[in-house]
Amino acid sequence: MNLILFGPPGSGKGTQAERLREKRGLRHLSTGDLLREAVAKGTDLGRKVKDILASGALVSDDIILALMREEIVRVGKQGWLLDGFPRTVGQAAGLDAQLVELDQKIGAIVVLNVRREAVVERLSGRRTCTQCKTVFHVKINPPRVDGICDRCGGTLVQREDDRPATIEKRLDVYEAQTQPILAHYRGKVAIHEVNGELPVDEVTRFIELVLQ
Ligand code: AMP
Repeated sequence: MNLILFGPPGSGKGTQAERLREKRGLRHLSTGDLLREAVAKGTDLGRKVKDILASGALVSDDIILALMREEIVRVGKQGWLLDGFPRTVGQAAGLDAQLVELDQKIGAIVVLNVRREAVVERLSGRRTCTQCKTVFHVKINPPRVDGICDRCGGTLVQREDDRPATIEKRLDVYEAQTQPILAHYRGKVAIHEVNGELPVDEVTRFIELVLQ
């Protein structure tokens, strides 16, 4: 099955995607992770997008569509889970065209609903492992040892774009450019809305229920 996980930054897409990946054998394709990896490695793509990521603005549709086409082709028919893509109506239209060409379909869209205030609270306390990407929160889900990942012992850092001014900007961008994608897909693809403010395990349970 091919799925899109949809929701504002900080709605838990990455966490839920990892769980769905493990349970359903889907490939987790996160544009944010791919772009951050390119920045960390200093590739051509990384150099192009570094400042854009730090500002909270969006990378151009052309770059994103080319990047994701490659990934979708690589995954083939194993089933994928998109996280952070598509993020504009232009990307959704581009993805639709690619999927027709590749003879693939979106099985369902799962929307994680989280209020703006809750997102700000979550993102400002978020710490991410530089190695395995596991996400912690300084208050809600702190690591056992400050600054160290429970899972792999890696160093925890605050993402540059998880600082307060950038969080607000990313939320504005989400509301203006990403939310309209749901109208694009309504009536064409099954859309399941889930309350993303419930405890993580509950959210996972609801996602499993709606996908049955
Ligand atoms: P994320 O980890 O999904 O919050 O993405 C982090 C940043 O990467 C975003 O704020 C954008 O700058 C960039 N980015 C990720 N996915 C996309 C996308 N589909 N289109 C454009 N920019 C993106």
